Amino acid sequence: MSELRSHERPTCEVCQQTGATVVHKYTRSPWPVVACNSCGFVYLGLVPDYEDLSVTYAWEKQHAEEKERRKKNKLARFDALTRFRLKLGKVIDRARHERAVGPEGRVLEIGCGGSTRIPDGPTPYGIEISEGLSQKARPIFEARGGTVYHEPATSGIERFEENFFDAILMRSYLEHEAQPRLILERAFKRLKPGGTILLRSPNYNSANRFIMGSQWCGFRFPDHVNYFTPRSLKALAASIGYEFRWMNWMSLFDDNLIVELKKPVTAFVPGPSARPVEAQVA
Ligand SMILES: [Zn+2]
Repeated sequence: MSELRSHERPTCEVCQQTGATVVHKYTRSPWPVVACNSCGFVYLGLVPDYEDLSVTYAWEKQHAEEKERRKKNKLARFDALTRFRLKLGKVIDRARHERAVGPEGRVLEIGCGGSTRIPDGPTPYGIEISEGLSQKARPIFEARGGTVYHEPATSGIERFEENFFDAILMRSYLEHEAQPRLILERAFKRLKPGGTILLRSPNYNSANRFIMGSQWCGFRFPDHVNYFTPRSLKALAASIGYEFRWMNWMSLFDDNLIVELKKPVTAFVPGPSARPVEAQVA
């Protein structure tokens, strides 16, 4: 493994408190899996720097390495065999995307990889941290009138005006983001009132994690830095002001959480001094 620049995460992204305990059974050196002492949220206490995610540790390389590692593992092979259920999932998934994304408007896909899942109709925009994948995706977005930015999501999203997007897709992205609170706050500003985020992320509370233990498919080091449960994801989203809706209510039996986060038509500034903000016409 090449030398990797990394930094510590001093506070919990969900409750914003300091203090966490190492979960030894899931930690794979040198990446500590920790649980927040206040709210229980599980995350990597040490994360790679964004610069290394651009090339050195890009998703496509990580994915190839992980595949190799799994081939060697018997339990993980069993897990792969039961993945027929995911095929049905794909059909349902496409329907979800079409429902979340309207026939027109502007849609942002964060972590688009080398292509896009934004259905035909709206103008697609993408942000992708891997240099190679962003170059691959760019012509696809440009042919439909949009573009892709090669940047960390937290800075890439600031290129857009407030109330700009009708919908945002975050699929297999938020588990990689060292600053999930910051990106959800910035996304909130850039969504039109009534706009939604369709979000998919590994479900730390899935039955499969209890069965597979440290071999659970949701663990990828140091790729996946957040391990959300239905409760922690809801708490994070609600504290920013989103309305929260489950898309897979049988989430215990699903390795992924699929949720819709909606910016209310009348937005509230969260916190003790909460006050209504003038509703804006979408
Ligand atoms: Zn916490």
